[in-house]
Amino acid sequence: MNEIETNIKLKPCPFCGGEAGMFYYGSNGRIIKCKKCFIQKRQKVLRKSVEWLENELIKDWNNRVK
Ligand SMILES: [Zn+2]
Repeated sequence: MNEIETNIKLKPCPFCGGEAGMFYYGSNGRIIKCKKCFIQKRQKVLRKSVEWLENELIKDWNNRVK
């Protein structure tokens, strides 16, 4: 899987502190995944753009980090 460049930097994994990356999930989805423990958050969009999804996922991921 190819990693996607994100405008906003992803914070490290909230569980293990490992490096996180964003990847493709089909043509209309995205996954944010920890490269160390492989915990992941994924979602697809139907009516909104993948750009919107990317931002939402990143916001969500980064908010989980305390
Ligand atoms: Zn992790």
